[in-house]
Amino acid sequence: MFDSHCHLAGDEFTSDLGEVVGRAKEAGLSGALVILGAEDIAELGRAANVSGVWDQVRFSVGVHPHQAGQFASDPTEAGRQAQAAIDAQPLSRAVGEIGLDYHYDLSPRDVQQQVFREQIRLAGKLRLPIVIHTREAEEDTFRLLDEENARDIGGVFHCFTGDREMAKRCLDMGFYLSLAGIVTFPRALALKEVAKMVPLDRLLIETDSPFLAPVPHRGKRNEPAYVARVAEVIADLRGTTAEGIADATHQNHVRLFNP
Ligand SMILES: [Zn+2]
Ligand SMILES: [Zn+2]
Repeated sequence: MFDSHCHLAGDEFTSDLGEVVGRAKEAGLSGALVILGAEDIAELGRAANVSGVWDQVRFSVGVHPHQAGQFASDPTEAGRQAQAAIDAQPLSRAVGEIGLDYHYDLSPRDVQQQVFREQIRLAGKLRLPIVIHTREAEEDTFRLLDEENARDIGGVFHCFTGDREMAKRCLDMGFYLSLAGIVTFPRALALKEVAKMVPLDRLLIETDSPFLAPVPHRGKRNEPAYVARVAEVIADLRGTTAEGIADATHQNHVRLFNP
């Protein structure tokens, strides 16, 4: 199993990184895709600690929409910083997380869009897949992906929380869908429907650690070991085994991220 999206280089893990990685290995994980903020010098620096403790991690680097506002005076600079951070990290395998977040609106929407666009172009240039974060911004997300021909670049909608309609749009564009611990929440009924319909060769699983711990760990710090719980719940919904979900998502992760 892989955890296809976690923030292990975040400062939430500095004090006990070795134990967190130990529990991940015990839970059967063969690796993880760790997200780095391209503008976050401290986090980029901690990446070496993470790959030092766990040599199976790979990285995805990008400017998150929450941070896009830092590039308001020159959005093209976000693309240059992302490229510099990717060039400096030989274990980089994707551009992200990038996208639009109109729920928190921490950056002006027009700047979010320009920063997203710059980084889709960068991914095309570097021939890397993109890791998309989108929240309450469905129409603009699809419009930008379409305008920038992201279909030819490929990637994943991370922590997917949309309904079947939206899932179908993502799949029609050739993207993977990654499900996180939210699928374990009792009230996430629409997402449970999505978990049943995603083709097995387009499904990924993730924790988004330290956020979004699955039931029964809800409310605590999340960690990669808990991705096993996401696999179990999806397996129950689909009437298959957790091993079946682990195998399929493992293959998909390898195909997409070339770890
Ligand atoms: Zn995200
Ligand atoms: Zn994330």
